[in-house]
Amino acid sequence: MTDMDSRNELVRLARSLHQRGLTRGTSGNLSARVGGGMLVTPTNASLGELTTDDLAMVSDTGEHLSGARPSKEAFLHLAMYRARPQDHAAVHLHSTYATALSCLDDLDDDDVLPPLTAYFVMRVGRLVRLPYFAPGDQGLGEAAQKAAESTRALLLANHGPIVSAPSLAQAVDAVEEVEETARVFFLLQGHATRPLQPAQVARLSATRT
Ligand code: ZN
Repeated sequence: MTDMDSRNELVRLARSLHQRGLTRGTSGNLSARVGGGMLVTPTNASLGELTTDDLAMVSDTGEHLSGARPSKEAFLHLAMYRARPQDHAAVHLHSTYATALSCLDDLDDDDVLPPLTAYFVMRVGRLVRLPYFAPGDQGLGEAAQKAAESTRALLLANHGPIVSAPSLAQAVDAVEEVEETARVFFLLQGHATRPLQPAQVARLSATRT
């Protein structure tokens, strides 16, 4: 994929997320690894109105190389890539249901959502909740990197999800699956629920790419 292909895909999928209400205002950011670092969406910009020229280029060590000023959460994307060399794209949202989930008490932080659907297991796997960090706290980068060594999907407490994947399309699919499964989880509150069984989960996990 050329640099321009990556730019076009970032802009197209950012707009799609925005149009479907998964981001509001200037929240949310997307990145894709390219030669020399990563392309990432800019700070203080709506994901619904980006052009390919608006993207920022950031080195693997977090240096701003060219383009607009990068998202203040770019360090979070770099943390995912440091932990997961197999992944080439990441998406972070403040989407409603996943953010609501991130605020709940009494969750298993190492495995926040039960395996409710096959697509959640195939696209996401295990969602891990990190502790709360104030905006801009670089300690979040260290915590994210450590947790991402064992899963692609993190839920930042009182904040929202970040998911990385081999491709941008897969990262978008996965973060949407987190949001939809969080919504289903809330719908099921108070109802006796039958999640998938361990053998079913194991078979699905084997197909995750
Ligand atoms: Zn955020």
